[in-house]
Amino acid sequence: MLRRFLPDQYVRSIFEINPESLKEKGIKGVITDLDNTLVAWNEAHATPMVLSWFNRMEEEGIDVTIISNNKKARVELFSQPLNKPYIHKARKPLKRAFVKAAKDMGLPRKEIVVIGDQLLTDIFGGNRAGFQTILVVPIVETDEKITQFNRKIERYILNRLKRKGLIKWEV
Ligand SMILES: [Mg+2]
Repeated sequence: MLRRFLPDQYVRSIFEINPESLKEKGIKGVITDLDNTLVAWNEAHATPMVLSWFNRMEEEGIDVTIISNNKKARVELFSQPLNKPYIHKARKPLKRAFVKAAKDMGLPRKEIVVIGDQLLTDIFGGNRAGFQTILVVPIVETDEKITQFNRKIERYILNRLKRKGLIKWEV
């Protein structure tokens, strides 16, 4: 059970994830979270750096879909200027949105990596749906109320994973 919360990889930010290294691992598609993964949860639009990250993925032929548990207005406002498919109110960690995104991208799950800042939604959801997963450090320390509760459980899980020697980074 605990292993379901274990990401395949852990990075400081999305900018450590480049299309070349993804392709080496056989990855052709990315399903990414929005809030605190791409930008701060209270930041409406992509920053220039995020924009160029999306452009590099596109140039290298990596498909990207944004899936978020947040509401339509937020996810649409952010995603539309990027011209990327998105799913709002995804209800992660439920599988449905992940499966739909994979189907729309036309890729098998083993060729897709799920990227996100939350163990309980992004990593747990991605793992149980059969994707590779990358955990990123949340962009800002603050969170929406619902997430603050999840963070407490997350810290508990991270500590247990650490005690079992399953993670090699500093929590
Ligand atoms: Mg998030």
